Amino acid sequence: MAEYTCIVCPLSCHLTVSEGQDGTISVSGNGCKRGEEHGKNEYLNPMRMITSTVAVLNRDEKRLAVISRGEVPKAKLTECLEEIYRTAVKAPISCGDIVLKDVCHTGVDIVSTATLE
Ligand code: SF4
Repeated sequence: MAEYTCIVCPLSCHLTVSEGQDGTISVSGNGCKRGEEHGKNEYLNPMRMITSTVAVLNRDEKRLAVISRGEVPKAKLTECLEEIYRTAVKAPISCGDIVLKDVCHTGVDIVSTATLE
């Protein structure tokens, strides 16, 4: 059994996820169907977006905010952040440019959230 707070909408329902002996996953406490899906995903394969920063080599004391283009497995979050911390870019760079492709072989790119002239 595991417990989560549903983050799909502001109601923040308290989800309880149980696994039967036959492997069936059941969710209780959800106020709607989306919460059931969220609870099952959290239990079986939790995923997360990444927001972080990377160094900008040709700008003193400047870091560039970046975001993942999709979710990565929660289990790979630390590994992904370590790869992002080792990444550096050079300006100019545009918002949406890929700064790190296929982070940790997740198939997800890390992109710039800002434009630096
Ligand atoms: S279970 Fe449904 S109603 Fe409850 S927080 Fe999640 S999305 Fe909102």
